[in-house]
Amino acid sequence: MRILLIEDEEKLASFIRRGLREERYVVDLASDGEKGLFLAEINTYDLIVLDIILPGKDGISICKELRSKKIDSPILILTARASLKDKVDGLQQGADDYLTKPFAFEELLARIRVLLRRKRIDKNSLLKAADLELDQLAHKVTRAGKEIILTAKEYALLEYFLLNTNLVITRTMISEHVWNEEFDSFTNVIDVYVNFLRNKINKGFKKQLIQTIHGVGYILKDL
Ligand code: CA
Repeated sequence: MRILLIEDEEKLASFIRRGLREERYVVDLASDGEKGLFLAEINTYDLIVLDIILPGKDGISICKELRSKKIDSPILILTARASLKDKVDGLQQGADDYLTKPFAFEELLARIRVLLRRKRIDKNSLLKAADLELDQLAHKVTRAGKEIILTAKEYALLEYFLLNTNLVITRTMISEHVWNEEFDSFTNVIDVYVNFLRNKINKGFKKQLIQTIHGVGYILKDL
């Protein structure tokens, strides 16, 4: 899951980013409104966390522009202003939820999970393919009941595959959802990580999960 955080307060932004990364989300950070809007337009985010008072362009305008451009990622507004008017404005311009500063990180996380879950077809936090299972709440992966230890990146990659079983996943899709802005498209880093992941989930099993579709990408079949 890839999240765009648009927040100009440096300390708060790095605190949120660190926390979200610990929860295995991929995070891009924009510290002004213009950059935030630009990133939201060129990338595909599963969720946008948006501050209201920003240099360059304010959060309400960003929200309005994104919705007018049919960008429908869930938007969670962060606001220091607790006035009812700001909240109403935000929701009217297409935001999905709001949170007033200061807030507890757990509260932010809970709201993010709800918005992401609302987006998913399957409301279950347990994702499955064949005998492989991934528990999104416990961050636990098992195959035939045996736990498999993955790195954060391998986990994010597997989660993306499991949310899109039986669909061909291109490298571009993987780079957009599992990597952040630091991704270098001129490397074979995706193939390397897919191989790391395959080695871990297939080791000792006859059925090999995640097939390569030559010239296109990969597929994880739920059979
Ligand atoms: Ca601000």
